[in-house]
Amino acid sequence: MSLPICVACGVQYEGTIASPPVSCPVCEDERQYVRREGQAWTTLEALRETERVNRVIEVEPGLYSVQTEPRVAIGQRALLVQSDAGNVLWDCVTYLDDATVEAIRQLGGIRYIAISHPHYYSAMVEWAEAFDAQIVLHEDSKEWVMRPSERITFWSGDALELAAGVTMLRVGGHFTGSAVLHWQQGQAGKGVLLTGDTIYVVADRKWVSFMYSYPNLIPLPAFEVERIRDLVQAYEFDRLYGAWPHSVVETDARQAVIRSADRYIAALTSRPQNELKNRF
Ligand SMILES: [Zn+2]
Ligand SMILES: [Zn+2]
Repeated sequence: MSLPICVACGVQYEGTIASPPVSCPVCEDERQYVRREGQAWTTLEALRETERVNRVIEVEPGLYSVQTEPRVAIGQRALLVQSDAGNVLWDCVTYLDDATVEAIRQLGGIRYIAISHPHYYSAMVEWAEAFDAQIVLHEDSKEWVMRPSERITFWSGDALELAAGVTMLRVGGHFTGSAVLHWQQGQAGKGVLLTGDTIYVVADRKWVSFMYSYPNLIPLPAFEVERIRDLVQAYEFDRLYGAWPHSVVETDARQAVIRSADRYIAALTSRPQNELKNRF
């Protein structure tokens, strides 16, 4: 196979490593970056030659994280949601080996691979083939698919229920097609939101943020954040998981999203003090 994988973002491309693409459009985009060392490519086969492992860890009943150590590329985790109608892998990672396939089969395998946005497309087709799964992406992100496959289904609109109580919500922002996953049965029925980079858990884990570009610190306009807040607050959830091992708002997450959106909007729309004085 030897398909090229971008070292910086971990996205696998069609073609061969013998003649990789000239550049990686995902990294050339202002929401990512080209490494100081320049564009470089690897393969899944080469990564398997290294001392790498995917850790599959229960984070709460019915939810498992999949994390590659040492990290590959961006270093995000994937989250496996168990469901009677078939498991959903939320987001994806580049690395995959036999031990991972075996560990996830023990947990019921994967029916759907649902991905928040193109930064986490990684080696999604490899994963889909290994588990005979269907990849579900929002149609607004179609242009970012670098390895087309008949396993990919594009959906449109703002909500898609994959299984009872497991619903993808397109909220946009970071990417037009950026999505989150609402898991109604999560946290003992209080509801859980899985967000990738669409809603980002910040250092103070009672708060979240909403950026156009995280590495280059480009904010979203206030009206976009207002829209995300209004879409998300229509759902009940108490806990929120982001894309990193410790990015979780443990409780009261719905309020955390609302107050974080309000803080963000206030920061973007506040005026200089003198101007305020003149106005009132
Ligand atoms: Zn890249
Ligand atoms: Zn991202």
